[in-house]
Amino acid sequence: MANEGLITREQAVLRVEPERLEQVLHPMVDPAVDYTPLAVGNPASPGAATGRIVLTAKEAVEEAAKGDPVILVRTETSPDDFEGMVAAVAIVTSRGGKSSHAAVVARGMGTCCVVGTRELEIDEAAGEVRAHDKVVKRGDWITVDGASGEVIEGQIPTIKPEPGEDFHTLMGWADEFRELRVRANADNPGDADAARGFGAEGIGLCRTEHMFFGDERIDAVREMILSSDQEGRAAALAKLLPMQRSDFVGIFRAMNGLPVTIRLLDPPLHEFLPTETDEVSRLAAGLGRSAGEIEAAVARLHEANPMLGHRGCRLGYSHPEITAMQARAIIEAALEVADEGVDVLPEIMVPLVGHEDEFDNQRAIVDATAQAVFEEQDRKVDYLVGTMIELPRACLTAGDIAARAEFFSFGTNDLTQTTLGLSRDDAGNFLPLYVEAGVYERDPFQSIDKAGVGRLMSLAVREGRATRPDLKVGICGEHGGDPSSVIFCHSLGMQYVSCSPFRVPVARLAAAHAALEEKRAAAGGAS
Ligand code: PEP
Ligand code: MG
Repeated sequence: MANEGLITREQAVLRVEPERLEQVLHPMVDPAVDYTPLAVGNPASPGAATGRIVLTAKEAVEEAAKGDPVILVRTETSPDDFEGMVAAVAIVTSRGGKSSHAAVVARGMGTCCVVGTRELEIDEAAGEVRAHDKVVKRGDWITVDGASGEVIEGQIPTIKPEPGEDFHTLMGWADEFRELRVRANADNPGDADAARGFGAEGIGLCRTEHMFFGDERIDAVREMILSSDQEGRAAALAKLLPMQRSDFVGIFRAMNGLPVTIRLLDPPLHEFLPTETDEVSRLAAGLGRSAGEIEAAVARLHEANPMLGHRGCRLGYSHPEITAMQARAIIEAALEVADEGVDVLPEIMVPLVGHEDEFDNQRAIVDATAQAVFEEQDRKVDYLVGTMIELPRACLTAGDIAARAEFFSFGTNDLTQTTLGLSRDDAGNFLPLYVEAGVYERDPFQSIDKAGVGRLMSLAVREGRATRPDLKVGICGEHGGDPSSVIFCHSLGMQYVSCSPFRVPVARLAAAHAALEEKRAAAGGAS
């Protein structure tokens, strides 16, 4: 219609709901087929897939290698499950909410995922999954609809849409209208490439802990975490340095010239500790220690509430050598690609800052390390050091933090968790009831709770910019790909939103809506 002159390009862009784009980007369950779902959970990553049930990551890898697609069904997932998650065409968990491990990782990979499917009782030992009076077994076919949250028995046909030329034309128009930049959350060169393909204009969040999935790497991280002294940690860090450096080189090359925000290590430790007996034995053998010693170290590190525990910048504060290793890897990688002619500007991001002194502490380590590398190599590269804003205290003291930090990136997953006092991992068990009852209009882990979290964000932007007028502000929590949250971020005057690669087009269109709606409102609301 726009091409025929019946409507303007602005109207064309405004007529397409950003959420609807998911339908042209992901497979969906054939709407012509009738079925009754086995169970319904929280839709966490769109798409639809059919596969055979597997109940462990190991089974997922083994069974997928035999040829049939597999669907990983677990109570919840952890980094131990990563390779199984990669092998699966869909992931279902019985626990967890929209920013749980399974949800975040699946969205990053573009794998269909349903979380918090409470009706499912997963019995790994018996090899079956029970839902009310139905039982499906390991190896049985199921279908997962990541848009509706339905888990369906059997093989339901799915349709894979092809975004055609019109899609690209519409997105091109959206790009002309929007003011917000759209970046992607990507942790490896493959995702970075995919993100560029979807139109990302940089990386807003590289979660360095995600670079440590995979046996060899996770063992080195575990060795570092489990070391009781600095010497042991230094040995493990020496193994991690070249791996990190080569990952960063790959990402900088893939993003050639676009900004890349790399976050220092932020793993809630429980996500990285071995839990299964065979994992403990394998790690013990690799480290030349006894299984008992490893178990004792794991017990020593046990935290009652790891999400509020020894994570984020608290790790680098207590173990400065971790921050130094990561800063070195980033700066060395930047110098290496700069030599190849890649235009590179690393943005080093400190996670979970609540007090300006934490930021000062981490910044001093980063700056000293960068200086040391510059002297060693007798050359320099520009870099920025900024912070995640993901604790209420950080919002309330944003003016002091901005005096030191060159950019802010809102971590709205943690900011939602800590503002609402709602665990990201456990809320899936009861939060849907609140949404059904209308207490929250939308799941606050999906769409920003404007009255609470949003107010803190607004304060932080205002006070941050009062101290540093050119403060660069963005968002990298899961909300960065949610249309109404993107519109809210535009209203706060942020520079960019960052979301998983597959949601980049959704965010681009939502950002155009935000700018056009604002223009309309300024013109008196005429349509
Ligand atoms: C966040 O908290 O919003 C965030 C982006 O960090 P993570 O999800 O890794 O905690
Ligand atoms: Mg966070």
